[in-house]
Amino acid sequence: MRLRARWLVAAPDDVVEGVDLMVEAGRVVARVPSHEIHTSTSEPFELVDLGDVALTPGLVDAHAHLDLTDLAGAVAPGASFPDWIVGLLRARGAATSEASSAVARGLERLATTGCVAVGDIAASWTHGELDARRKAGGPITRTYLEVLDAGDDARGRAAVERALAFLDGDGAAGQVDLLGISPHAPYTVGDATLDALASGIASRGNGRSVPLQVHWAETPEEEAWTGGRTGPFDALLGPPQGRGRALDRLERRGLLGPATVLVHGNVPDDVAAGTGRNDCGGQDDEPTRIARADASVVHCPGAHAFFARAPFPVERYRAAGVRLCLGTDSAAGNDDLDMRRELALAAAAFPHVPLAELWGWATCDAARALGLGDRVGVLGVGRPFTAVAFATAARSRERVLDELVRERPEVRASWIEGRQVVAQRSPR
Ligand SMILES: [Zn+2]
Repeated sequence: MRLRARWLVAAPDDVVEGVDLMVEAGRVVARVPSHEIHTSTSEPFELVDLGDVALTPGLVDAHAHLDLTDLAGAVAPGASFPDWIVGLLRARGAATSEASSAVARGLERLATTGCVAVGDIAASWTHGELDARRKAGGPITRTYLEVLDAGDDARGRAAVERALAFLDGDGAAGQVDLLGISPHAPYTVGDATLDALASGIASRGNGRSVPLQVHWAETPEEEAWTGGRTGPFDALLGPPQGRGRALDRLERRGLLGPATVLVHGNVPDDVAAGTGRNDCGGQDDEPTRIARADASVVHCPGAHAFFARAPFPVERYRAAGVRLCLGTDSAAGNDDLDMRRELALAAAAFPHVPLAELWGWATCDAARALGLGDRVGVLGVGRPFTAVAFATAARSRERVLDELVRERPEVRASWIEGRQVVAQRSPR
Protein backbone atom coordinates (compact mmCIF):
# COMPACT_ATOMS: atom_id res chain seq x y z
CA MET A 1 0.00 0.00 0.00
CA ARG A 2 1.25 3.46 -0.87
CA LEU A 3 -0.37 6.04 1.39
CA ARG A 4 -0.53 9.60 0.18
CA ALA A 5 -1.36 12.41 2.59
CA ARG A 6 -0.84 16.12 2.10
CA TRP A 7 1.24 16.23 5.29
CA LEU A 8 3.27 13.63 7.08
CA VAL A 9 3.82 14.37 10.78
CA ALA A 10 6.19 11.51 11.57
CA ALA A 11 7.45 13.07 14.82
CA PRO A 12 7.17 16.49 16.48
CA ASP A 13 10.23 17.75 14.58
CA ASP A 14 9.57 15.81 11.39
CA VAL A 15 6.69 17.51 9.54
CA VAL A 16 6.94 17.25 5.76
CA GLU A 17 4.70 17.90 2.78
CA GLY A 18 4.28 15.62 -0.22
CA VAL A 19 5.83 12.42 1.11
CA ASP A 20 4.13 9.03 0.68
CA LEU A 21 4.48 6.11 3.06
CA MET A 22 4.99 2.60 1.70
CA VAL A 23 3.33 0.06 4.00
CA GLU A 24 3.84 -3.68 3.71
CA ALA A 25 2.60 -6.43 6.04
CA GLY A 26 1.65 -3.92 8.71
CA ARG A 27 4.98 -2.10 8.72
CA VAL A 28 6.28 1.13 7.25
CA VAL A 29 8.91 0.12 4.69
CA ALA A 30 9.81 3.44 3.03
CA ARG A 31 9.13 7.17 2.65
CA VAL A 32 8.94 8.28 -0.94
CA PRO A 33 8.40 11.79 -2.34
CA SER A 34 4.90 11.84 -3.85
CA HIS A 35 6.19 12.70 -7.34
CA GLU A 36 8.66 9.78 -7.41
CA ILE A 37 8.14 6.23 -8.53
CA HIS A 38 9.12 3.73 -5.87
CA THR A 39 11.68 1.46 -7.47
CA SER A 40 12.85 -0.82 -4.68
CA THR A 41 10.22 -3.41 -5.50
CA SER A 42 8.54 -4.57 -8.67
CA GLU A 43 5.28 -5.27 -6.89
CA PRO A 44 2.53 -2.91 -7.94
CA PHE A 45 1.33 -1.00 -4.91
CA GLU A 46 -2.23 0.05 -4.25
CA LEU A 47 -2.20 3.86 -4.03
CA VAL A 48 -4.44 5.20 -1.28
CA ASP A 49 -4.79 8.97 -1.56
CA LEU A 50 -6.06 10.32 1.76
CA GLY A 51 -6.24 13.89 0.45
CA ASP A 52 -6.03 16.92 2.74
CA VAL A 53 -4.97 15.15 5.90
CA ALA A 54 -2.03 15.06 8.25
CA LEU A 55 -0.87 11.47 8.62
CA THR A 56 0.41 11.17 12.21
CA PRO A 57 1.49 8.43 14.65
CA GLY A 58 -1.82 8.94 16.50
CA LEU A 59 -2.42 10.06 20.06
CA VAL A 60 -1.36 8.26 23.24
CA ASP A 61 -3.41 8.62 26.42
CA ALA A 62 -0.93 8.19 29.26
CA HIS A 63 -3.49 7.79 32.05
CA ALA A 64 -7.06 6.52 32.07
CA HIS A 65 -9.51 4.51 34.16
CA LEU A 66 -11.55 2.92 31.40
CA ASP A 67 -13.55 0.77 33.84
CA LEU A 68 -15.21 4.03 35.00
CA THR A 69 -16.41 4.99 31.51
CA ASP A 70 -20.05 4.30 32.35
CA LEU A 71 -19.91 6.74 35.29
CA ALA A 72 -19.63 9.79 33.03
CA GLY A 73 -21.54 12.61 34.71
CA ALA A 74 -22.43 10.41 37.70
CA VAL A 75 -20.23 12.11 40.31
CA ALA A 76 -20.01 15.83 41.10
CA PRO A 77 -16.54 17.29 41.82
CA GLY A 78 -17.64 17.86 45.44
CA ALA A 79 -16.36 20.35 47.98
CA SER A 80 -13.09 18.44 48.36
CA PHE A 81 -11.32 15.59 46.57
CA PRO A 82 -12.28 13.05 49.29
CA ASP A 83 -15.94 14.06 48.71
CA TRP A 84 -15.56 13.05 45.06
CA ILE A 85 -13.91 9.76 46.04
CA VAL A 86 -16.83 8.96 48.38
CA GLY A 87 -19.29 9.78 45.56
CA LEU A 88 -17.28 7.64 43.15
CA LEU A 89 -17.27 4.64 45.49
CA ARG A 90 -21.03 5.00 45.94
CA ALA A 91 -21.64 5.27 42.17
CA ARG A 92 -19.34 2.32 41.47
CA GLY A 93 -21.16 0.22 44.06
CA ALA A 94 -24.49 1.00 42.38
CA ALA A 95 -23.24 0.47 38.81
CA THR A 96 -25.03 -2.29 36.95
CA SER A 97 -22.75 -2.66 33.92
CA GLU A 98 -19.71 -4.94 33.72
CA ALA A 99 -16.26 -3.37 34.02
CA SER A 100 -15.20 -5.05 30.78
CA SER A 101 -18.05 -3.48 28.80
CA ALA A 102 -17.23 -0.04 30.27
CA VAL A 103 -13.61 -0.61 29.17
CA ALA A 104 -14.76 -1.54 25.66
CA ARG A 105 -16.85 1.65 25.44
CA GLY A 106 -13.91 3.73 26.65
CA LEU A 107 -11.58 2.15 24.09
CA GLU A 108 -14.16 2.83 21.38
CA ARG A 109 -14.39 6.53 22.33
CA LEU A 110 -10.59 6.84 22.39
CA ALA A 111 -10.24 5.10 19.03
CA THR A 112 -12.79 7.30 17.25
CA THR A 113 -11.04 10.43 18.55
CA GLY A 114 -7.62 9.45 17.22
CA CYS A 115 -6.01 7.61 20.12
CA VAL A 116 -3.89 4.53 19.37
CA ALA A 117 -2.55 3.58 22.80
CA VAL A 118 -3.54 4.06 26.42
CA GLY A 119 -2.17 3.50 29.90
CA ASP A 120 -5.19 2.19 31.76
CA ILE A 121 -5.64 1.54 35.47
CA ALA A 122 -7.67 -1.61 36.19
CA ALA A 123 -9.29 -1.43 39.64
CA SER A 124 -10.40 -5.05 39.68
CA TRP A 125 -8.76 -7.64 37.52
CA THR A 126 -9.43 -11.24 36.69
CA HIS A 127 -8.09 -13.28 33.80
CA GLY A 128 -11.54 -13.05 32.22
CA GLU A 129 -11.59 -9.26 32.44
CA LEU A 130 -8.06 -8.89 31.09
CA ASP A 131 -8.90 -11.21 28.19
CA ALA A 132 -11.97 -9.10 27.46
CA ARG A 133 -9.74 -6.00 27.35
CA ARG A 134 -7.41 -7.67 24.87
CA LYS A 135 -10.24 -8.84 22.67
CA ALA A 136 -11.86 -5.39 22.66
CA GLY A 137 -9.43 -4.34 19.92
CA GLY A 138 -8.82 -0.64 19.40
CA PRO A 139 -5.97 1.18 21.12
CA ILE A 140 -2.96 -0.78 22.37
CA THR A 141 -3.48 -0.97 26.11
CA ARG A 142 -0.89 -1.00 28.86
CA THR A 143 -3.03 -2.21 31.76
CA TYR A 144 -1.78 -1.28 35.23
CA LEU A 145 -3.17 -3.63 37.87
CA GLU A 146 -4.28 -1.44 40.76
CA VAL A 147 -2.99 -2.35 44.19
CA LEU A 148 -4.04 -0.71 47.44
CA ASP A 149 -4.25 -1.58 51.11
CA ALA A 150 -6.42 1.14 52.66
CA GLY A 151 -4.60 0.71 55.96
CA ASP A 152 -4.56 -3.12 55.90
CA ASP A 153 -0.98 -4.34 55.36
CA ALA A 154 -2.01 -7.99 54.81
CA ARG A 155 -4.45 -6.90 52.10
CA GLY A 156 -1.73 -4.84 50.42
CA ARG A 157 0.82 -7.65 50.46
CA ALA A 158 -1.73 -10.12 49.05
CA ALA A 159 -2.65 -7.68 46.27
CA VAL A 160 1.02 -7.19 45.34
CA GLU A 161 1.63 -10.94 45.27
CA ARG A 162 -1.40 -11.51 43.08
CA ALA A 163 -0.43 -8.70 40.71
CA LEU A 164 3.12 -10.02 40.29
CA ALA A 165 1.73 -13.51 39.66
CA PHE A 166 -0.48 -12.05 36.93
CA LEU A 167 2.53 -10.40 35.33
CA ASP A 168 4.50 -13.63 35.35
CA GLY A 169 1.57 -15.73 34.19
CA ASP A 170 0.95 -13.25 31.45
CA GLY A 171 4.59 -13.38 30.48
CA ALA A 172 4.19 -17.06 29.77
CA ALA A 173 1.54 -16.11 27.22
CA GLY A 174 3.89 -13.62 25.59
CA GLN A 175 1.93 -10.59 26.72
CA VAL A 176 4.14 -9.37 29.53
CA ASP A 177 4.80 -6.03 27.88
CA LEU A 178 1.14 -5.08 28.17
CA LEU A 179 0.81 -5.19 31.95
CA GLY A 180 2.06 -3.05 34.77
CA ILE A 181 1.21 -2.36 38.40
CA SER A 182 -0.37 0.73 39.93
CA PRO A 183 0.19 1.23 43.66
CA HIS A 184 -2.85 3.50 43.71
CA ALA A 185 -1.85 6.61 45.69
CA PRO A 186 0.26 7.75 48.64
CA TYR A 187 -2.82 7.83 50.88
CA THR A 188 -4.12 4.32 50.00
CA VAL A 189 -0.78 2.48 49.91
CA GLY A 190 1.32 2.14 53.06
CA ASP A 191 5.00 1.35 53.48
CA ALA A 192 4.43 -2.40 53.96
CA THR A 193 2.73 -2.63 50.56
CA LEU A 194 5.50 -0.62 48.90
CA ASP A 195 8.10 -2.89 50.58
CA ALA A 196 6.31 -5.96 49.21
CA LEU A 197 6.20 -4.42 45.76
CA ALA A 198 9.87 -3.45 45.79
CA SER A 199 11.08 -6.84 47.00
CA GLY A 200 8.70 -8.66 44.65
CA ILE A 201 10.05 -6.73 41.67
CA ALA A 202 13.65 -7.29 42.80
CA SER A 203 13.12 -11.02 43.21
CA ARG A 204 11.78 -11.37 39.66
CA GLY A 205 15.39 -10.94 38.61
CA ASN A 206 16.96 -10.46 35.18
CA GLY A 207 16.75 -6.72 35.70
CA ARG A 208 13.24 -6.85 34.36
CA SER A 209 11.60 -3.61 35.32
CA VAL A 210 7.88 -3.50 35.98
CA PRO A 211 5.93 -0.59 34.50
CA LEU A 212 4.47 1.40 37.40
CA GLN A 213 1.87 4.12 37.53
CA VAL A 214 1.13 6.03 40.75
CA HIS A 215 -1.25 8.90 41.49
CA TRP A 216 1.12 11.39 43.04
CA ALA A 217 0.91 14.85 44.60
CA GLU A 218 -2.56 15.38 43.20
CA THR A 219 -4.05 17.63 45.90
CA PRO A 220 -2.99 19.68 48.92
CA GLU A 221 -5.51 17.58 50.93
CA GLU A 222 -3.50 14.45 50.12
CA GLU A 223 -0.30 16.22 51.11
CA ALA A 224 -1.88 17.22 54.43
CA TRP A 225 -3.00 13.67 55.30
CA THR A 226 0.27 11.96 54.38
CA GLY A 227 2.12 14.81 56.09
CA GLY A 228 0.32 14.04 59.39
CA ARG A 229 -1.89 17.14 59.29
CA THR A 230 -5.65 17.13 59.80
CA GLY A 231 -7.83 17.78 56.73
CA PRO A 232 -10.68 16.51 54.55
CA PHE A 233 -9.04 13.09 54.01
CA ASP A 234 -9.51 12.27 57.75
CA ALA A 235 -13.22 11.56 57.18
CA LEU A 236 -12.35 8.99 54.51
CA LEU A 237 -9.18 7.42 55.89
CA GLY A 238 -9.10 8.11 59.61
CA PRO A 239 -6.51 10.17 61.49
CA PRO A 240 -3.79 11.69 59.30
CA GLN A 241 -0.63 9.62 58.95
CA GLY A 242 2.81 11.15 58.74
CA ARG A 243 4.06 8.85 56.03
CA GLY A 244 6.31 11.49 54.55
CA ARG A 245 6.69 12.61 50.97
CA ALA A 246 5.52 9.98 48.50
CA LEU A 247 8.47 10.61 46.17
CA ASP A 248 10.88 9.83 49.02
CA ARG A 249 8.98 6.62 49.75
CA LEU A 250 9.19 5.50 46.12
CA GLU A 251 12.79 6.59 45.55
CA ARG A 252 14.07 4.94 48.72
CA ARG A 253 12.71 1.58 47.51
CA GLY A 254 14.02 1.82 43.96
CA LEU A 255 10.50 2.37 42.63
CA LEU A 256 11.32 5.64 40.87
CA GLY A 257 12.82 4.97 37.44
CA PRO A 258 12.25 5.14 33.66
CA ALA A 259 9.29 2.74 33.96
CA THR A 260 7.59 4.90 36.62
CA VAL A 261 4.73 7.19 35.65
CA LEU A 262 3.65 9.75 38.24
CA VAL A 263 0.11 10.93 37.64
CA HIS A 264 -0.92 14.57 38.27
CA GLY A 265 2.00 16.05 40.21
CA ASN A 266 -0.06 19.19 40.85
CA VAL A 267 1.72 19.95 44.11
CA PRO A 268 5.41 18.98 43.93
CA ASP A 269 7.50 20.02 46.92
CA ASP A 270 8.85 23.50 47.26
CA VAL A 271 12.40 22.64 48.22
CA ALA A 272 13.55 25.07 45.58
CA ALA A 273 11.87 27.79 47.61
CA GLY A 274 13.92 26.84 50.63
CA THR A 275 11.56 24.73 52.73
CA GLY A 276 13.53 21.49 52.17
CA ARG A 277 11.54 18.42 53.17
CA ASN A 278 12.93 15.57 51.13
CA ASP A 279 15.15 13.00 52.81
CA CYS A 280 16.58 11.40 49.67
CA GLY A 281 17.76 13.99 47.22
CA GLY A 282 19.58 16.47 49.42
CA GLN A 283 18.97 19.93 48.10
CA ASP A 284 17.29 18.89 44.86
CA ASP A 285 13.60 19.55 44.42
CA GLU A 286 11.18 16.85 43.33
CA PRO A 287 11.03 17.76 39.62
CA THR A 288 14.83 17.54 39.48
CA ARG A 289 14.81 14.12 41.14
CA ILE A 290 12.06 12.89 38.77
CA ALA A 291 14.08 14.06 35.77
CA ARG A 292 17.24 12.42 37.12
CA ALA A 293 15.35 9.12 37.54
CA ASP A 294 14.02 9.49 33.95
CA ALA A 295 10.49 8.97 35.29
CA SER A 296 7.46 10.63 33.67
CA VAL A 297 4.72 12.96 34.87
CA VAL A 298 1.21 12.86 33.40
CA HIS A 299 -0.89 16.00 33.38
CA CYS A 300 -4.63 15.53 32.81
CA PRO A 301 -5.99 18.92 31.64
CA GLY A 302 -9.65 17.83 31.44
CA ALA A 303 -9.62 16.37 34.96
CA HIS A 304 -7.72 19.45 36.13
CA ALA A 305 -10.53 21.65 34.80
CA PHE A 306 -13.25 19.32 36.17
CA PHE A 307 -11.88 19.73 39.70
CA ALA A 308 -11.02 23.43 39.17
CA ARG A 309 -7.46 22.86 40.38
CA ALA A 310 -4.87 25.58 40.84
CA PRO A 311 -2.67 26.06 37.74
CA PHE A 312 -0.42 23.08 36.96
CA PRO A 313 3.22 24.04 37.74
CA VAL A 314 4.33 23.23 34.20
CA GLU A 315 7.45 25.40 34.34
CA ARG A 316 8.82 23.54 37.37
CA TYR A 317 8.83 20.34 35.32
CA ARG A 318 9.98 21.88 32.04
CA ALA A 319 12.87 23.67 33.77
CA ALA A 320 13.97 20.38 35.37
CA GLY A 321 13.70 18.47 32.08
CA VAL A 322 10.96 16.07 33.19
CA ARG A 323 9.22 14.01 30.49
CA LEU A 324 5.64 15.30 30.49
CA CYS A 325 2.64 13.57 28.95
CA LEU A 326 -1.09 14.07 28.77
CA GLY A 327 -3.93 11.82 29.90
CA THR A 328 -7.70 11.80 30.06
CA ASP A 329 -8.06 10.30 33.54
CA SER A 330 -11.56 8.85 34.08
CA ALA A 331 -14.92 9.69 32.55
CA ALA A 332 -16.17 10.11 36.14
CA GLY A 333 -13.78 13.04 36.65
CA ASN A 334 -13.64 14.57 33.17
CA ASP A 335 -16.11 15.65 30.49
CA ASP A 336 -14.87 13.35 27.70
CA LEU A 337 -12.30 10.72 26.74
CA ASP A 338 -10.76 12.61 23.82
CA MET A 339 -7.03 13.27 23.64
CA ARG A 340 -7.61 16.02 21.05
CA ARG A 341 -9.48 17.93 23.75
CA GLU A 342 -6.69 17.32 26.28
CA LEU A 343 -4.19 18.77 23.79
CA ALA A 344 -6.40 21.80 23.13
CA LEU A 345 -6.85 22.43 26.87
CA ALA A 346 -3.09 22.14 27.44
CA ALA A 347 -2.38 24.54 24.58
CA ALA A 348 -4.85 27.05 26.02
CA ALA A 349 -3.38 26.75 29.52
CA PHE A 350 0.27 26.90 28.40
CA PRO A 351 0.34 29.23 25.36
CA HIS A 352 4.11 29.71 25.76
CA VAL A 353 4.93 26.01 25.28
CA PRO A 354 5.96 25.29 21.67
CA LEU A 355 3.39 23.35 19.63
CA ALA A 356 5.87 20.61 18.77
CA GLU A 357 6.54 20.05 22.46
CA LEU A 358 2.81 19.82 23.28
CA TRP A 359 2.35 17.37 20.40
CA GLY A 360 5.17 15.26 21.84
CA TRP A 361 3.40 15.10 25.21
CA ALA A 362 0.46 13.34 23.52
CA THR A 363 2.51 11.14 21.18
CA CYS A 364 6.15 10.07 21.53
CA ASP A 365 6.66 11.17 25.14
CA ALA A 366 3.52 9.39 26.34
CA ALA A 367 4.53 6.30 24.35
CA ARG A 368 7.91 6.22 26.09
CA ALA A 369 6.31 6.74 29.50
CA LEU A 370 4.15 3.65 28.95
CA GLY A 371 7.10 1.59 27.72
CA LEU A 372 5.53 1.46 24.25
CA GLY A 373 8.09 3.66 22.52
CA ASP A 374 9.01 1.02 19.97
CA ARG A 375 5.39 0.48 18.97
CA VAL A 376 3.65 3.86 18.91
CA GLY A 377 4.34 7.58 19.10
CA VAL A 378 6.55 7.94 16.02
CA LEU A 379 5.70 7.05 12.42
CA GLY A 380 9.01 5.76 11.15
CA VAL A 381 10.47 3.40 8.56
CA GLY A 382 10.82 -0.14 9.95
CA ARG A 383 8.20 0.43 12.62
CA PRO A 384 4.67 -1.00 12.88
CA PHE A 385 2.18 1.02 10.85
CA THR A 386 0.12 2.69 13.56
CA ALA A 387 -1.26 5.98 12.31
CA VAL A 388 -4.13 8.43 12.38
CA ALA A 389 -5.09 10.71 9.50
CA PHE A 390 -6.48 14.00 10.79
CA ALA A 391 -8.27 16.42 8.46
CA THR A 392 -6.28 19.58 7.79
CA ALA A 393 -6.58 22.68 5.69
CA ALA A 394 -3.03 23.74 6.55
CA ARG A 395 -0.73 25.13 3.89
CA SER A 396 2.33 25.62 6.10
CA ARG A 397 4.27 23.40 8.48
CA GLU A 398 3.53 25.62 11.50
CA ARG A 399 -0.17 25.64 10.72
CA VAL A 400 -0.31 21.80 10.62
CA LEU A 401 0.81 21.47 14.22
CA ASP A 402 -1.41 24.39 15.19
CA GLU A 403 -4.47 22.57 13.84
CA LEU A 404 -3.44 19.23 15.37
CA VAL A 405 -2.80 20.68 18.80
CA ARG A 406 -5.43 23.40 19.14
CA GLU A 407 -8.35 22.57 16.90
CA ARG A 408 -9.45 18.98 17.62
CA PRO A 409 -9.31 17.97 13.95
CA GLU A 410 -11.65 15.36 12.53
CA VAL A 411 -10.33 11.79 12.35
CA ARG A 412 -10.45 10.62 8.73
CA ALA A 413 -8.87 7.18 9.13
CA SER A 414 -6.72 5.19 11.53
CA TRP A 415 -4.67 2.01 11.69
CA ILE A 416 -3.18 0.12 14.61
CA GLU A 417 -0.28 -2.17 13.72
CA GLY A 418 -1.52 -2.42 10.15
CA ARG A 419 -5.16 -3.09 11.00
CA GLN A 420 -7.58 -0.38 9.97
CA VAL A 421 -9.54 0.85 13.01
CA VAL A 422 -11.37 3.89 11.70
CA ALA A 423 -12.38 3.31 8.09
CA GLN A 424 -11.65 6.08 5.64
CA ARG A 425 -14.14 8.89 5.85
CA SER A 426 -14.81 11.44 3.18
CA PRO A 427 -14.52 15.10 4.04
CA ARG A 428 -17.59 16.46 5.80
ZN1 LIG B 1 -6.40 8.65 37.85
